[in-house]
Amino acid sequence: MKKIFGLVRVGVILAVHFFVFYSILEVKWAVGITMAIAGIAYLGGHINIAKDRAIPLQNLDAFYKSKLEGAFQILCEQGNKVGVDLRHLRLYMVPDEQINSYSYGRNHIGVTKGLLALDDGNIAGILAHESGHCLHADAFIKRILFCDITIIILSLSVIGFISTGFFWLVFVLLCFGGLCGGCFSFFITRSLGKMIRCVFTGLQHIFVFIYQITIGIISRNMEYSADRFAAKMDFGNELIFFLSRFSLEENVPRTFRNIMYASQPTASKRIKNIEEYCHTILSQEVKCHE
Ligand SMILES: [Zn+2]
Repeated sequence: MKKIFGLVRVGVILAVHFFVFYSILEVKWAVGITMAIAGIAYLGGHINIAKDRAIPLQNLDAFYKSKLEGAFQILCEQGNKVGVDLRHLRLYMVPDEQINSYSYGRNHIGVTKGLLALDDGNIAGILAHESGHCLHADAFIKRILFCDITIIILSLSVIGFISTGFFWLVFVLLCFGGLCGGCFSFFITRSLGKMIRCVFTGLQHIFVFIYQITIGIISRNMEYSADRFAAKMDFGNELIFFLSRFSLEENVPRTFRNIMYASQPTASKRIKNIEEYCHTILSQEVKCHE
C-alpha cells in the first residue's frame, strides 16, 4: 500500500498538469508536454546517480558492502515488523567523505562514504528516512515542480521576446507607410519596448519568488514526513542522535531569506517533530493496552 502511495501522488499531479495544459493547448500537446515532464522527472534520478558517481551496493568493496548490507537488513527487518516491504530499494555509496544521504527517486537511495563510518543502527535510521522519501516519491515530485517553473520562465521569455519583436515590426511598417518616423517616435517605441520587457522580466521574478517559497514549504514538509516514517519504523532515537550530533545547520544565521527559502527544517524542529510523533504513538499504544 505504501509503495502505491507515491505512485498515486505522482499520478494525481501529472493528471492535474495534463488538464492545465489541455485547457490552453491541443490534446496532443497536452499529452506530449505531460509525458516529457514525467520522463524528465524519472530520468533526473538516474542523471543524479551518474553525476554523484554513486556506486551500486553489489560493486562495493567488501567492507562497505557488508556495512551497507548490514544496515539494509536491519531496515528491512524493521519494515517487516510494521508491514512495509523495502526489499525493492536499490542502495548506492557516494564517494564523498562528508556525512550525507540522498533519495534519488522511487527506488534508489545513496549514502556517502563518510556516513558509513556510523554504526549499523544509525545508518539504518538514515536509510529509513530516505526510504520515506522514496515511498512518497518526493524527489520525483520536486523535479516535476522544477519542470513547471522552467516551463513558466521559458514561456515568459518567449512571449516577452515575441511581444517586443511584434511591437518593433508594427513601428517599421508604420514608418514604411509614412505614418510614423523620426527620433521622437523611435524614442517612444524603444521606451514602450523596454517597458514590455520589464513587465515580463518582473513576472519571471515573481514566479521564481513564488516557486522558491512553495518549494521551501513543500521540502520542509517532506522532511518532517520522512522523519515520521523513520520514527514509525522505530528509528526515532537513531535519527535524533544523528540530528543532534551531525547537523551543522543550527549555526547558519536565521535571515529572512533562509527562513523563507530553506528547504530543510532546522535539526531542533526535526527532533521536536520526531519526539512529538513518538509520544503520540506511545500514548496510542498505552490506550490500546488499557
Ligand atoms: Zn530528507
